[in-house]
Amino acid sequence: MTYSQFPHLLSPIKLGKVELRNRIIFPAHETLLQGDDGLLNDAYIAYQVARTRAGAGLNILTAASIDEFSFTQPSQPRLDSDEAIPGYRAVAKAIHAEAGKVFAQLLHAGREMYSAPDGTSPLTFSASDTYAERFHIRPRALQVDEIARIVEAYSAAAARAVEAGVDGIEICGNQGNLPAQFLAATINRRTDDYGGPFSNRFRFIMEVAQSVRSAIGPDIAFGFRLSAADLDNDGLEEDESLEALARLDASGLVDYLHIVLGTPSTRAGAMHIVAPMEAAETGYVTPFAERAKRRLTVPLVATGRFNTPQSAESAIAQGFMDAAGMTRAMICDPRFVAKVREGRVDDIRACIACDQACIGHFQRGYSVSCIQFPESGRELTLGAYSMADRAKRVIVAGGGPAGMKAASVAAMRGHHVVLCEASGYLGGQAVLASRVSGRAEFGGIITNLAREVELAGVTVRLRQKVTRDFIEREGADAVVLATGATPRLPPLERIEGIDHITAHEVIAGTAKAGQRVLIADITCDWVGVGAALQLAANGHDVTIAVVGVQPGETLPAYVRDKAAARLFEAGVMIINYARLYGAEGNTVYLEHVAALKPILVEGVDTLVICHGGQADRELEREIAALPIERHIVGDCLTPRTAEEAVLEGLKAAVAL
Ligand code: SF4
Repeated sequence: MTYSQFPHLLSPIKLGKVELRNRIIFPAHETLLQGDDGLLNDAYIAYQVARTRAGAGLNILTAASIDEFSFTQPSQPRLDSDEAIPGYRAVAKAIHAEAGKVFAQLLHAGREMYSAPDGTSPLTFSASDTYAERFHIRPRALQVDEIARIVEAYSAAAARAVEAGVDGIEICGNQGNLPAQFLAATINRRTDDYGGPFSNRFRFIMEVAQSVRSAIGPDIAFGFRLSAADLDNDGLEEDESLEALARLDASGLVDYLHIVLGTPSTRAGAMHIVAPMEAAETGYVTPFAERAKRRLTVPLVATGRFNTPQSAESAIAQGFMDAAGMTRAMICDPRFVAKVREGRVDDIRACIACDQACIGHFQRGYSVSCIQFPESGRELTLGAYSMADRAKRVIVAGGGPAGMKAASVAAMRGHHVVLCEASGYLGGQAVLASRVSGRAEFGGIITNLAREVELAGVTVRLRQKVTRDFIEREGADAVVLATGATPRLPPLERIEGIDHITAHEVIAGTAKAGQRVLIADITCDWVGVGAALQLAANGHDVTIAVVGVQPGETLPAYVRDKAAARLFEAGVMIINYARLYGAEGNTVYLEHVAALKPILVEGVDTLVICHGGQADRELEREIAALPIERHIVGDCLTPRTAEEAVLEGLKAAVAL
């Protein structure tokens, strides 16, 4: 791959009077790096600037609330008062210092506010009082004078951003926010001038566009972001969205338009906001862009799972869009643009759409990061490694994600690193994870980390079990233990006369199950779901009994909901609130964990046990008395996910 293979992606583009140096955009997204007060701070600036420094054509800052009822959650970035201006000014200055461009994005979430500052059920406003089913919100229908005040709030917020020095303004009209609530016939049930026929439902969007353009003048770039479709049977239809885009274009008020997909108000629609690997292919917004582009004269930006430069280049080259929003691509690899420009495409750490540490963190109230690159979102604390004072001879025991991350960063810091893996391949549990139906892309974490190991100059020894003798023989100064975990079994004295295997064996294809299968799942992660889907696909009658509320409940929300859809479609029966108590013959005894009453499942041929992992502590015990620096990381510390493994590998490498 060379620079010349991306002539369209790397060419400049003008959005109104603002020229971007290339067409790779870091779009607006939630980070939770800002302060609890919603003001932009140093952590937020460092995060944005890391992408600008690598060459991003444009940073569009996180959607900012415009008044006291317009946020999705209380720490939303704000442009509702002059207090916000210094933070925006600092971001704009820092991005301009790196020759980038910066736009502010304005948000009124309407009924999609899901959390009030004091923990009460929030008071929200919308076009109508139509129930928002995902967050269980019944909004209050706006009065006409309240609509006018919101329109004014948009323009006041835009003026503040311009005063702070941004180059452009984008309206967050997409994904079920207030403009979309006015536009969608299924949500807007008004009978006045703002409801009924399309022109009336479009009126709010038009008034916002007119008001903002009038406030910012002709020199500031102005764009509108809409969902091309909500992708739910109860949401914005594609033809409604395309008509709105065409009318905005024809109004002459906007310099560009921006499309995404999905809506937060329904489960099927929400998974397209940050589509997981099971729900969407690379660049799956492209056909929507193609249909929109046919009706537009202004440039079209499209965002939706562009995780490679090839997919974005191809869509632009074919004339389906003019620029690509690449959010997760640049969360996962902040130097994405630099690598494209330098022709180092094989070195790009491609996002695998796991949703775990980016949107998954946000959904649990934590700041953005990436499971493959935990430095992301931690720019001020882990963003730069110093060279080691003294180069040490380091042995890393275990070639899973934890070991690979530890080895590559330790080597980058100047240590002499030998990465030993007892099996014949790198990847550890990630290999198994990538065997789950629909989740083959998870294997990208292995490819990416293995590439980093290679680039860092780590010596890799496969089929090399690390022992005390080996460590002494190698004359190591330090050892990183990353030996992983093995499947854990429950106490088996209560399980008699029934075939039992582990979910890991099912996914690995190393054990056979009978026709009628019961999966007893206490971890509620991808393993139980994966085993259930695999067995169902192979024609077994599958029931999954979970300790939690639903299978996959520990997974990121969109992954979990996609899993729910797939289990339903596969005909898997679900028993929730159930722990494994025992089994005898063909009967499995469960216990309802809230009622503490028995649940009997009869006619079971095979019991599949999904009880998580057991830390492999053999080497830890063996070298307990060895006077050597040691760090224990990942599943052998205690079994969790790839995210914790990679983060702990990084921290160990930084501490060496
Ligand atoms: S956490 Fe997963 S989905 Fe999010 S940026 Fe990283 S690889 Fe992509």
